[in-house]
Amino acid sequence: PYDVLIVGGGPAGAAAAIYAARKGIRTGIVAERFGGQVADTMAIENFISVKATDGPKMVANLEQHVLDYDVDIMKTQRAARIEKKELVEVELENGAVLKSKTIILATGARWREMNVPGEQEYKGKGVAYCPHCDGPLFKGKKTAVIGGGNSGIEAAIDLAGLVEHVTVLEFSDTLRADDVLVKKAKSLPNVTIIKNAMTTEVLGDGERVNGLTYTDRTTDESHTVELAGIFVQIGLVPNSEFLKDAIELTDRGEIVIDQHGRTSMDGVFAAGDVTNVPFKQIIISMGAGATAALGAFDYLIRN
Ligand code: FAD
Repeated sequence: PYDVLIVGGGPAGAAAAIYAARKGIRTGIVAERFGGQVADTMAIENFISVKATDGPKMVANLEQHVLDYDVDIMKTQRAARIEKKELVEVELENGAVLKSKTIILATGARWREMNVPGEQEYKGKGVAYCPHCDGPLFKGKKTAVIGGGNSGIEAAIDLAGLVEHVTVLEFSDTLRADDVLVKKAKSLPNVTIIKNAMTTEVLGDGERVNGLTYTDRTTDESHTVELAGIFVQIGLVPNSEFLKDAIELTDRGEIVIDQHGRTSMDGVFAAGDVTNVPFKQIIISMGAGATAALGAFDYLIRN
């Protein structure tokens, strides 16, 4: 068995693996896709001490750093179940069972989808989730941003410099974004913000997106907007479904942890975007991964 088995190979998992391996204990890491969300990121300019990098570069560096240590890396494997017996057992989707004295869950998060007709069909054909990645594809075109929280308004400001026009559709009657961001977005001549708007369908010509429909929740009237791109910015969903009946989660599905990274299951720790930490960032996830590894090491020497 492992001393520490890490589930997830994003920044949190990579940091946990390095911190654990540096203690000379038997460390494994099982990940569906090494690098996690960082692999989908273009510019990274807030990773302190590295002025600017990009996602693929950082993923390669992360992996190189982990490979410097004696860590078993199991890629393209998904964990499906966790159970505390004498050791903690993690069952993979392929049926294999991995056993470890401690586990660090670092399965991160993914974009929340709208769940409206047309979204799946036109994903990657006009429906996008990452303005940093896909914004330039819509240069000079009309786009919409779904969601008026910080990420939605940031996306609108970001896109406004590239595209012809941005329509922001917010479901509720207020924007949840910070005031400075809202002011900035409202000052831009090519940004329109519509509140009380429930997106109902993604329209397309069979090849690509050419519009969307939304219902004005105050009048119940349906409207159509012609556009080429839709950026969905309605939040992140933690990748914690497989833990539902085993570990305490918040009502949003985030793993509840304490200051040592401990979860509600004995010997099981967690770190990064899958947890109830308030901010989801690379540097924060890495710090949390280090904390969880040290927490796990502390647990091992006491048990
Ligand atoms: P993730 O990066 O989500 O990694 C999760 C890992 O778990 C992956 O390896 C995944 O394959 C694996 N996994 C998931 N489920 C399972 C399972 N059941 N079994 C096995 N493995 C599983 N942050 C910044 O600091 N600066 C930025 O500029 C920045 N830009 C961003 C741009 C985009 C487009 C996105 C999406 C995010 C950005 N972020 C940025 C946020 C940052 O990427 C995340 O906070 C960070 O990646 C979280 O790390 P993590 O290790 O917790 O999770």
